[in-house]
Amino acid sequence: MQCADCGGEFVKKTITYDQPWGDNELYIFENVPALVCSQCDAVYLEAKASQAIDAIIQSRREPKKYKKVPVFSLEEALA
Ligand SMILES: [Zn+2]
Repeated sequence: MQCADCGGEFVKKTITYDQPWGDNELYIFENVPALVCSQCDAVYLEAKASQAIDAIIQSRREPKKYKKVPVFSLEEALA
């Protein structure tokens, strides 16, 4: 399989995948099997991984742990 963006080769890797959800939620999944482009880092999840992610988000189950996610606006920092 070749990358549609750059023509690079996809390599099987286990990654941490961030899934934004709505305006204010972010789900982080560890140990996700994925294909990653060796040149541009484009990521394709395997079908079973992407189905599992959807199922977990929709089940609203309690996560393994929580991370704090600080949010900044550069509007003030660059003013
Ligand atoms: Zn690529």
